[in-house]
Amino acid sequence: MSVTAAQVKRAFKYRFYPTDEQAAELSRTFGCVRKVYNMALAARTEAWARQERVNYNQTSAMLTAWKKTEELAFLNEVSSVPLQQTLRHLQAAFTHFFAKRAKYPRFKSRKKSRKSAEYTTSGFRFRDGKLTLAKMMQPLDIVWSRPLPQGAKPSSVTVSQDAAGRWFVSLLCEDPGVKPLPVIDRMVGVDVGLDHLLTLSTGEKIANPRRERKDRARLALAQRRLAKTAKRSNNRAKARRAVAKIHARIADRRRDGLHRLTTRLVRENQTIVIEDLTVRNMVKNRSLSCAISDAAWAEFRSMLEYKAQWYGREVIAVDRFFPSSKLCSHCGTLAESMPLHVRTWTCESCGTTHDRDVNAAKNLLAAGRAVTACGAGVPQRRTPGRQSATKQETHGASRGISRL
Ligand SMILES: [Zn+2]
Repeated sequence: MSVTAAQVKRAFKYRFYPTDEQAAELSRTFGCVRKVYNMALAARTEAWARQERVNYNQTSAMLTAWKKTEELAFLNEVSSVPLQQTLRHLQAAFTHFFAKRAKYPRFKSRKKSRKSAEYTTSGFRFRDGKLTLAKMMQPLDIVWSRPLPQGAKPSSVTVSQDAAGRWFVSLLCEDPGVKPLPVIDRMVGVDVGLDHLLTLSTGEKIANPRRERKDRARLALAQRRLAKTAKRSNNRAKARRAVAKIHARIADRRRDGLHRLTTRLVRENQTIVIEDLTVRNMVKNRSLSCAISDAAWAEFRSMLEYKAQWYGREVIAVDRFFPSSKLCSHCGTLAESMPLHVRTWTCESCGTTHDRDVNAAKNLLAAGRAVTACGAGVPQRRTPGRQSATKQETHGASRGISRL
């Protein structure tokens, strides 16, 4: 597999401070994006119930029709580009669903869903380091916390607002600085830990971010405070923002940690074998006591996959139909049962004593080896070719993505 530098696109995410007018325009746009997404999802869901499929082009035609109706005429007030984009996002969500990689798409809620709008090249102007969005007179006041690559031309721009009220803009650009690394002969298995974040087949255990505990305690406190406030009061709004701020901080730290970890794994190994925790398996196999949440795991995997793509490495996801924690990685004997509280165990056949998580990681590695050796054997998915993978969601907001 080869990756040419020209294909590599990276998201560069910055904070910005909109004028009141811009904030109003963007909030309106977020609302319209959500509306269009939900209506298209409803239309596709109705069709699905009749065992029909509605594709992107059909939803695009629907959008045109909606805009002509009186009650939806307000959709004309915002840029049409993010509305088209959200239909593409919905299409992608269905593609993932049909490929059994994701659950059925869900409706976007006003309160809980991420507020964002994506603009493709026809929806923005980027000139002399100034970014102006469609329907706006002034450029955005962006805090350029790190430079864009020399001569970078964004191919898409995503504006978002988090629950703490902060505004972000993410520019997807080609980065000529990213080049494949020399091929090395090392492979690692990575298992989801029970009380550690992740366990490697080398025996190394990776802990959760250090501050996580403290932050969690603060979060609990803030949530109790929120619960005590009166509904629709000023204090409630304040308390809600405080909760959102702590959430954002936890997510930022976690993302930082995952960036460092995935960069390291990709740099040190040619092939990384992970579990394929798709929706199908998740319900059945995942224990309640996992130290990594589904969301964090999905983020970890996506970072691993796009960085592998950038640097010419490979990620193999092994289906967890095989009993990785019950199987002796030394002699292949299957232990009868392996309750969750058992942290170390000794194989009855060969007498090897195993750390539960390390043993599971070693089994994953072995399964991955089988895949690379004969190209089959264990159901798996290799990263390259999985998707175009040039586009990733905007990671590493204010802190910047650690580079190799
Ligand atoms: Zn054994």
